[in-house]
Amino acid sequence: MLKISSTNNIKRFFSASLEKNGVMHGFLARTGGVSLPPFSSLNFDCKGTDPPENIARNTRLLTAGLSLRSGALSNLFTMNQVHAGSVIELIDISDLKKYDADAVITKLDNVPLGILTADCMPVLFYDPVNKAIGAAHAGWKGTLEDISVKTLNAMQRRFGSKAENVLTAFGPYIGPCCYTVGKDLHEKFTAAFGNTANDYFTNKDNCLRLDIGKANSSRLVLNGVRPENIERDAPCTSCETNTFFSYRQENGATGRQLSFIMLIKD
Ligand SMILES: [Zn+2]
Repeated sequence: MLKISSTNNIKRFFSASLEKNGVMHGFLARTGGVSLPPFSSLNFDCKGTDPPENIARNTRLLTAGLSLRSGALSNLFTMNQVHAGSVIELIDISDLKKYDADAVITKLDNVPLGILTADCMPVLFYDPVNKAIGAAHAGWKGTLEDISVKTLNAMQRRFGSKAENVLTAFGPYIGPCCYTVGKDLHEKFTAAFGNTANDYFTNKDNCLRLDIGKANSSRLVLNGVRPENIERDAPCTSCETNTFFSYRQENGATGRQLSFIMLIKD
């Protein structure tokens, strides 16, 4: 289960195992910011109509709330998330620009990797041996594109990470309690992953439900990540709209919560 810390109503959900390894990270809740409805209040999405100055203020509030040094989040790296399968490799500080992508890896210090979500699942990666990090955005499309495994593979290829050393944590997402889907999704997942895809779906109250967390976890384990190194008991965004933005529950009119991971060097 993720742990929670709270300062000035800024709530950070975090993984005890990542924390124990000394890597700064968090899955932020929607509370404690300045954005107005429907973005209230700790919104980090600048593609909607929430003014950029609100997002800048939210960033400052977050920096203070997490006791980070001033400007620690100024290099926050986010992507134009397009629900696809490409992974950005940030090797040099000059690589910091806006990409259409859904995952990113780096060994750069002081470059927070950010994922924005409202029901999709943020996935954070840490390789404590090679001091490398990654972050991925996994909705159903990204999951179908195997985005978590692609992120892991990029860390293996680029940084020499070994799957058995990699720690991962899943953030809040729309759980199977609320995520009803059509049969077509089951067919797509079966075509991509074979019969193991049956494990990602349940049928309850005559509705087919997809568990994005279970799917990503299963794919990572099949690719060598130890089950005990996957922190995957995150709350459901749609059940807890006082705490999290939920695209489905709020009919698309909502903000995006930030999840991030960073290597800090003073
Ligand atoms: Zn739910």
